Amino acid sequence: MEDKSKENLETQVIHAGYEPDEATRSVSPPIYQTSTFAFESAEQGAALFAGKEKGFIYTRLGNPTIEALEKAVASLEKGIRALATSTGMAAVSTVYMALLEKDTHMIGTAALYGASRVILETEFARYGVTSDFVDTSNLEEIKKKIKKNTRLLYIESPANPTMAMTDIQGCAQIAREHGIILVVDNTFASPILQNPLELGADVVVHSVTKFINGHSDVVGGIIVSQREELHERLAKVLHLLGGTMDPHQAWLVLRGLRTLYLRVEKAQDNARKLAAWLESHPKVAWVNYPGLPSHPQFELMKKQMKGPGSMISFGLRGGYEAGLKLINSVRLCTLAVSLGGIETLIEHPASMTHAVVSKKEKEEAGITDDLIRLSVGCEAYEDLRADLEQALEYD
Ligand SMILES: *Cc1c(COP(=O)(O)O)cnc(C)c1O
Repeated sequence: MEDKSKENLETQVIHAGYEPDEATRSVSPPIYQTSTFAFESAEQGAALFAGKEKGFIYTRLGNPTIEALEKAVASLEKGIRALATSTGMAAVSTVYMALLEKDTHMIGTAALYGASRVILETEFARYGVTSDFVDTSNLEEIKKKIKKNTRLLYIESPANPTMAMTDIQGCAQIAREHGIILVVDNTFASPILQNPLELGADVVVHSVTKFINGHSDVVGGIIVSQREELHERLAKVLHLLGGTMDPHQAWLVLRGLRTLYLRVEKAQDNARKLAAWLESHPKVAWVNYPGLPSHPQFELMKKQMKGPGSMISFGLRGGYEAGLKLINSVRLCTLAVSLGGIETLIEHPASMTHAVVSKKEKEEAGITDDLIRLSVGCEAYEDLRADLEQALEYD
């Protein structure tokens, strides 16, 4: 296959991972909907299992349709290899399972995706894994928590739903100095806007359910590594635990991925305009959007991201009550959790996505009761503004 890594992301997103196949010249990748692959002979079967020959054996261990998606995302994230998983949480739990040992320690962003934090504090704690969650946008907070047995620094930037950002290069330096592996959940930025591996991270994870698939019709995840030995370790654990992707699911995600660039551009353009409009609205108390000069990390966004993306959080002067009125009055925006799809979604994290997070942890993560999260989609800006405008017409 030609080296696509030199091409612009805009081109790569459309072509990476697949060339018309030799057998049929099909332009779209075939869906290899098979659980198993026939061996030519007993000797070949043995050689495949021994790793002496390359080829497909069994879909949990590898499948051409899944591999096409893995190659595409690895290329977009500037990694060497990728592993597609059944959900985003399968990617996260595989990373924890592969890279943490009994009695080791992990430091994470306080505003980590709810389930990514909860499985450490409940399930992995059963194996003696300890964890500290800090405001990773302050590198000093990370340094304070480093212990002898710290193995993993796991960050989300921009964080959900506060849009707080963490200096990825700064984290990579700290991780290198202490022999810690740096993992970045890049779901919110997408590979179009941020490439953590280029900034020194070791592993990137995505919930492809969000921007990468982009059509709110598939769940999935992916893990991209920067080094062969990390990939091998992750692959071994994923293939044993079994949280792998299905070929049909991979085909859908690859189909969604092909328009990622266009979707990210359009949604970001809408979000920039909406954030500025919301900030000037008399009923809006505050807006968190990394593309606004009022965002405390506006400069960091410009340094490590290609753009601020399409996630906005904001609070109303009327607080929680007013927020409920707003989300119950929208007509075009859909009241639903999840994000990164072509349609605009609105939700209330304190009672929905972050309901599993304790009150104290919500406070630490900056998730206030009045916070409303908007995942801006690809509709016409004027229609989105008109919808929010009418929903803000309460007294
Ligand atoms: C949704 C999400 C996950 C979990 O992904 P699923 O596909 O729901 O399992 C992990 N991290 C972030 C940042 C997410 O938004």
